[in-house]
Amino acid sequence: MQLSVGDNLGRYEIKAELGSGGMGTVYEAIDSTLQRKVAIKVLKPNALADSDGVERFNREAKAIAGLSHPNIISLYDFAEHDDAHYAVMEYADGTTLDECVESVNRDRAIEIAIGMANGLSAAHEGGIIHRDIKPANILLTKDGTPKLTDFGLARQETADHGQTQVGAVLGTIDYMPPEQLRDATAVDARSDLYSLAATLYQMVTGKSPRTVSYTHLRAHETRHDL
Ligand code: AMP
Repeated sequence: MQLSVGDNLGRYEIKAELGSGGMGTVYEAIDSTLQRKVAIKVLKPNALADSDGVERFNREAKAIAGLSHPNIISLYDFAEHDDAHYAVMEYADGTTLDECVESVNRDRAIEIAIGMANGLSAAHEGGIIHRDIKPANILLTKDGTPKLTDFGLARQETADHGQTQVGAVLGTIDYMPPEQLRDATAVDARSDLYSLAATLYQMVTGKSPRTVSYTHLRAHETRHDL
């Protein structure tokens, strides 16, 4: 579903298109009831794969909505309009870490990593694993606060891309730990910490934590050049 400025999605009025990613398009919008700015991610028609995917996301959305932490983008709502599912989130005025990862100095890199570790700690205490920590999922607000985004959606993306099949790994893999590359169902909180460390590596060295061998993975072939 393509939306234009001025369109309404339920009680939300579209103000601008912010960008597109693997899962869908993100818009800046105004919640007409509460009169506050929000970010809306309208998911691609097949983003949640099937009714199981929607149900899984709905279930997880409840846990994510319960997370309240300065380093996590809050999820306000998850709804459907004309067969399109959309997530309504806290609006973060700023950029993604992906856009400025080259220019982050060491002290700032440590500051961002500590913020992410704090956010992840709260998520893990709530039993939620992100599964796709990477610079593109870290928003930096104008006052410098790092915020993790795409909780739950990341999980769906992982499921959608068939990453549970050995040798069939697609999507963003540079930041994933070997066990997740082998079997996406085998992850726990430690996998997020690995991905956070890979992100910190990139901030400090300027190099991507690229996977050496990622096609047709077998246990002994999975390694990173960290
Ligand atoms: P994504 O599809 O998650 O990669 O997001 C596409 C673009 O939308 C990103 O480059 C961000 O600049 C922007 N964006 C995503 N989430 C938010 C948010 N909660 N607040 C403000 N901008 C966002």
